[in-house]
Amino acid sequence: MAVPDLDALLARGVRGQRVLVRADLNVPLADGAVADDTRVRASIPTLRRLLDAGARVVVASHLGRPKGQRAPALSLRPVAPRLAHLLGTGVSFCEECVGPAAAAAVEDLGPGQVLLLENLRFHPGETANDPDFARALAALCDVYVNDAFGTAHRAHASTAGVVPFVARAAAGDLLRTELAHLESVRHPERPLLVILGGAKVSDKLTVLEALAPHADVLAVGGAMAYTFLRARGEPVGDSLVEEERLEDARRVERAADEAGRRLLLPTDHVVARRPEAGAPSKVVARIPDGWCGVDIGPETARRYAEEAQRARTVFWNGPMGIFEIKDFARGTETVAEGVARSEGTTVVGGGDSLAAINGLGVGDRITHLSTGGGASLEFVQGLTLPGVAALEQARA
Ligand code: ADP
Ligand code: MG
Repeated sequence: MAVPDLDALLARGVRGQRVLVRADLNVPLADGAVADDTRVRASIPTLRRLLDAGARVVVASHLGRPKGQRAPALSLRPVAPRLAHLLGTGVSFCEECVGPAAAAAVEDLGPGQVLLLENLRFHPGETANDPDFARALAALCDVYVNDAFGTAHRAHASTAGVVPFVARAAAGDLLRTELAHLESVRHPERPLLVILGGAKVSDKLTVLEALAPHADVLAVGGAMAYTFLRARGEPVGDSLVEEERLEDARRVERAADEAGRRLLLPTDHVVARRPEAGAPSKVVARIPDGWCGVDIGPETARRYAEEAQRARTVFWNGPMGIFEIKDFARGTETVAEGVARSEGTTVVGGGDSLAAINGLGVGDRITHLSTGGGASLEFVQGLTLPGVAALEQARA
């Protein structure tokens, strides 16, 4: 697979060309302003290079789930000043993302100038991957650049559908970097440790099935651990268990076993009377009736952290407990410390996992923080990302 990149694109030149950049500016908003600009920052390097090369840059993104209708609360307008600040240049905004108004706004753009289009998902054609909508997007540009890694696992008009309608296309630097780092999990230097946590087995079942035979060690934490423990017949008290997933959990364990891999489950737990701040809690080896598991115990956390020291490659997705509550965050913190100390290649993805890493201030000791939770999980499973597959057919 060969995806044309920005180097190839810039080598052929983009001066004066209209370049449509599909970015992932799906940021949290609060009181009409950008609450966390991580994704805006992540999109800057590609935009900077294109502007420096004299491109007329048109930025498109989705924000939230407006379900194909105009939803003022999900307008991308508040992102424009943030983008302008980070780029150190003016950014104009167009209330449409296709059609005559958008075309006129693009026409007004000079080389080295930036236009941000309104939320792509105000149009039903975006998520439906409607060819007419894809063609309308393509009509706005001479060159298309996909830098939206967080949405690359979706076959939408702006991520996949548009590509056949443009003469030139390439992956942006963020997309390229993400793929390169995640490639090192797909084809790891071994041993590969995968740490999976979070709320539900059902959310990550396909990931578990794909990674159980691939990872040398699969360490499970978070709420999903209790479904595995229950499947082994161990007591789980009032912990979150997905009864309808017990057979799936057994199948994942068998797959790991047959492949000669180790699947690790917590051997001690922080349990609480209720999963709430201030509820009585204690550390136990067996979960008693009337208590629920809210974090992996200190012994388990130490074991998982030690595995991270031994591993040459670590992939982590999903917190080890209800880390939003301080009393139940220790397991996630210990594992985060362990991953940060690892000398191997370390890749962390997932909104909540990144929040935990950044909250601890160890982000700069992780090889790669993936900006796309869902996309990173699909990629490391070996699935083809539609946004990437489309670019494989393109020329820079
Ligand atoms: P990520 O965003 O990193 O992919 P998920 O969204 O899958 O992670 O899971 C994060 C959620 O899982 C958090 O809200 C956390 O509180 C919850 N969680 C983790 N452990 C438990 C537990 N033992 N009981 C209930 N919820 C849990
Ligand atoms: Mg999450």
